[in-house]
Amino acid sequence: MKILVINCGSSSIKYELLEMEDEKVLAEGLLEKVGEKASLLSHHCQSGALKINRDIASHEDGLELVVQILMDKEKGVVKDASDIFAVGHRVVQGGEKFIDSSLIDDEVIQAIRQYQELAPLHNPPNLAGIMAMRRLLPEVPQVAVFDTAFHHTISEAAFLYAIPMKYYRKYALRRYGFHGTSHRYVAEKAAEVLRRPLSELNLITCHLGNGCSMTAIRQGKVVDTSMGFTPLEGLVMGTRCGDIDAAAVLFLAEKEKLSFQEIGNMLNKESGLLGLSGLSNDVRVLEKAAREGNSEAALALEVFAYRARKYIGAYLAVLGRADAIIFTAGIGENSQSMRSAILKGLSPLGISLDEARNQKPEEAQGIITTEDSPIKVLVIKTHEETLIARDTLEVVKRAASAPGGGRG
Ligand code: ADP
Repeated sequence: MKILVINCGSSSIKYELLEMEDEKVLAEGLLEKVGEKASLLSHHCQSGALKINRDIASHEDGLELVVQILMDKEKGVVKDASDIFAVGHRVVQGGEKFIDSSLIDDEVIQAIRQYQELAPLHNPPNLAGIMAMRRLLPEVPQVAVFDTAFHHTISEAAFLYAIPMKYYRKYALRRYGFHGTSHRYVAEKAAEVLRRPLSELNLITCHLGNGCSMTAIRQGKVVDTSMGFTPLEGLVMGTRCGDIDAAAVLFLAEKEKLSFQEIGNMLNKESGLLGLSGLSNDVRVLEKAAREGNSEAALALEVFAYRARKYIGAYLAVLGRADAIIFTAGIGENSQSMRSAILKGLSPLGISLDEARNQKPEEAQGIITTEDSPIKVLVIKTHEETLIARDTLEVVKRAASAPGGGRG
């Protein structure tokens, strides 16, 4: 059974086609600069790689091209639409309604549209992808998998901001948390590696990529997460500031006469590692510069590590006891020096890093702590598409077996 996973960003489309028998990726690709001149599609499948430069005006046009390539008579990996069991869509904001992945119907579309207000940068392209695929493959069931859903178990004490309650009631303004599929994927994988059921494990999962977030998981369920109402809060990120005193933002707005949009741009796109270093949002670039004596690059990395360490401390207190800490995404998976900097000095809290293992996590199934470390630290490669595909399969099968259900 083949599942197509679609992740539509504001100007990009990522996709993967998975064979669910063995979760093998049959084809994958990325279409960049959708809506701009000279969009670029990079496609990979068993028969080789393919690059196409073409003006793609919309997500619908982009997905039409993707479907054509997947079904190409010579190089395609599916015969026709009936060969695709279902399509799974990443949707960033599912609000308080979606606590699980959902089969897409008109009502679900209406709710995703309603949540555009909460995620104006993300939900509109997600929805554009859904609408396009419904038109392109009308017979194929579509499933929405929400970034926020894994975090629905967070209690009021952890999700409320201490501002007048009327704003929560009026706008559902609260912490939602994001990267849920990644946190869930690595939590499930950690349970496999540790050979214990997830429902018994207390974990801290650290997704450190361009966007960064940390999640505290008690007995398999999320109790807190660092991103908030939007993906701006929490850890220092590539270009996002993470936690900041709201009054500092008001101060700057007044002094610099910044509009709401300019403030939003500055905090989301010009801050974080990029803002601090004045050089780059890429940890690889900053690590190299720091080695060559660039003190601002070194400081930016230190601020990043310090914030992450502080959150680990907070989440250890929230959980009371932790079995493992998991590092994932671009920085978490690849930067041994960042992992080492974050975990520095934490042995009194039960975390003893094994530096040799930290250099080569793959040699001990990703475990990078010493044998006797009370809390294990694991490096696990995230693969959100696998989880989206698993959920999609399950949701469609469940719907088909429900009374009156059928494929479609
Ligand atoms: P996204 O959140 O966009 O999916 P990724 O998870 O791919 O991003 O993370 C991208 C970031 O990972 C890069 O900006 C870079 O900072 C970091 N990164 C990737 N490879 C390495 C590496 N070998 N060493 C250090 N950092 C890396």
